[in-house]
Amino acid sequence: MENSVITKDQIERAAKLISQSKRVVITCHRSPDGDAIGSSLALFHYLKNKVERARVIIPDPDPDFLHWTPGHDEIITFETQKEEAEKEVEQADLIFSLDYNTLKRTGDLAASLEKALDRDVPFVLIDHHQQPDDYPEVLISDTKTCSTAQLIYEFIVGVDDKSAITTEIGECLYLGIMTDTGSFRFPSVDPKTHRIVADLLEQGVEHALIHQEVYDTNLEDRLRLIGHALRHKLEVNRDLHMAYISLSKDELDEHNYRKGDTEGLVNQALSVKGVNFAAFIREGNNEVKMSFRSRGNFDVNQFARKYFDGGGHKNAAGGISSGSLEETIKKFEEAAAECQSELNY
Ligand code: 5GP
Ligand code: MN
Repeated sequence: MENSVITKDQIERAAKLISQSKRVVITCHRSPDGDAIGSSLALFHYLKNKVERARVIIPDPDPDFLHWTPGHDEIITFETQKEEAEKEVEQADLIFSLDYNTLKRTGDLAASLEKALDRDVPFVLIDHHQQPDDYPEVLISDTKTCSTAQLIYEFIVGVDDKSAITTEIGECLYLGIMTDTGSFRFPSVDPKTHRIVADLLEQGVEHALIHQEVYDTNLEDRLRLIGHALRHKLEVNRDLHMAYISLSKDELDEHNYRKGDTEGLVNQALSVKGVNFAAFIREGNNEVKMSFRSRGNFDVNQFARKYFDGGGHKNAAGGISSGSLEETIKKFEEAAAECQSELNY
């Protein structure tokens, strides 16, 4: 395709690996989002007729609003199907790393993948996060591209042809591009994104149905949890141009929390007028999970790396903390205060 960010050499080396492989495993990061699932299933549909066996393995379950995706029933979840997943990895002769930049991001699946790496199983990484590790045989990373799904589109077209993009592949790619761009509104969207999406619609993708599945299908509990978070838990620090929302395990339990229920809350905090940096802090079973967003210059990838063992992109990143919720909130507030001079814009 014109102006592809993937080089001819990368396409040729990856195509050669695919043609030499019988059993391919496709993996993505833990807490899979729309881009992780969309990219993985799109590549799965593309490869399933090219190789003897292709399987998608996700580290832990994805949220309900992604379960409509074509091929979703065939996904293997490491957390609940450990033996099956380990067997697939052991027998794989090619492994794809999609939408993550370091094996650490695959949680408990990482140990199996590291063993495969020790056996010299080749990896192909396709991703758009910053600072990718250098373990893959073929490393396709472009941090300017809005989504891994957009890179998968370029990859398939590069290896094969536009005609290889079927409706089901198109639906998966549309999902990934749509969710990682906040429905085509983030600065990462470029003219090429819209050209690709136009191609996908021409392939028969029904975009309105996908938006409805992902954004307009809520359980009452979820809406009430969001209501509670915005009404009672939004903290705004005008001096730091910062806002955050935290939710404890009790508050989540009270609203029968399900994976994905708090998706988008961090963006609500960022939308407060005058706020340039926002966080969402959620108490989990064994750790506290954090999401960071910024607008403009403040680099939340650096912030997440420095303070919370995380990473991501300049304006969207995440991290974890092993302290209690209260300790994490305190540490977060102190860390933000340390960045006061960078936040003052
Ligand atoms: P989210 O806040 O939507 O979970 O994640 C925002 C971005 O940060 C995503 O691109 C995601 O891949 C990245 N990210 C989220 N959590 C972590 C984490 O714990 N570690 C790293 N390295 N990246 C993360
Ligand atoms: Mn992504």
